[in-house]
Amino acid sequence: MNDRKSVYLFYKKTDELEEKVQRVRELGRKYGFTMADSPEEANIIAAFGGDGTFLQAVQKTRFRDDALYIGINDGSFGFYTDFSTEDLERLELAMQTNMVEVLRYPTLEVTIDGDKSFHCLNELSVRSNIIKTLVMDVYVDALHLETFRGDGLLVSSPTGSTAYNKSLGGSIVDPKLPSMQLTEMASLNNNQYRTLGSSLVLSKERELRLSIVQDGNDHPIIGIDNEAMGIRHSRELSIRVSDKSVKTLRMKDNLFYNKLKRSFL
Ligand code: NAP
Ligand code: MN
Repeated sequence: MNDRKSVYLFYKKTDELEEKVQRVRELGRKYGFTMADSPEEANIIAAFGGDGTFLQAVQKTRFRDDALYIGINDGSFGFYTDFSTEDLERLELAMQTNMVEVLRYPTLEVTIDGDKSFHCLNELSVRSNIIKTLVMDVYVDALHLETFRGDGLLVSSPTGSTAYNKSLGGSIVDPKLPSMQLTEMASLNNNQYRTLGSSLVLSKERELRLSIVQDGNDHPIIGIDNEAMGIRHSRELSIRVSDKSVKTLRMKDNLFYNKLKRSFL
């Protein structure tokens, strides 16, 4: 952490959190860090809160690949948060020793109608916004793989695999595998519509295309991490594993598998 010294603190400004953040600020100053007024001036972005806040911090600062993101939770344990306002000793240890390691988390890049593009850290979700099913053609590179009919489809990053994807029965993917996973939301399967049924993990080389069939129910809700996109007339989404990764800090004793065990087992 020695060549990075300017920190932006991202948090919801409540009185309770302000007090805890102040203690972290003081600790930072003690170790020679300066506090930046805007994220653009900083090369470390520290998010205080849960995984949801970490996702917001990364989205709002536009996936800075020249910055280091640090998640500091406020009590409960998370996947993107390696530190806690309840355990300042651990944070202090990180500031002064080589007990920390920089991790790079793969992200996804989504292009809508060949035009607007977005990054996702957890996932892209495309869901019907009415009670009726949504129909989408799924292509892997140039190949038409299947026509999906159901509630929707989700494409998750490796770190997103423990979130929404897991609730849908998708697999958990090691964040060291740059990949994306396509997972179904309640697919309808009959003699007319047939889908894989299992979730599909694709390599970094692939392009996944979801083409929304214009059949009357063609305004799905498009979710990028914890934000809904305000795009109404989208027809086609192209998804790839991005070349951009999110750099974050973790203690060497806190492997992905430690987190899995602590959260789920
Ligand atoms: P939320 O509804 O408060 O989040 C749902 C839960 O997912 C929270 O406990 C959150 O942790 C946790 N979470 C977020 N990212 C995770 C990850 N990578 N691995 C494991 N757990 C994770 O909304 P939010 O906090 O803004 O988080 C947004 C995420 O919620 C979305 O990206 C999506 O993955 C997930 N989500 C899940 C479902 C579902 O499972 N049915 C439905 C909608 C959205 P914190 O409490 O620490 O924030
Ligand atoms: Mn949350």
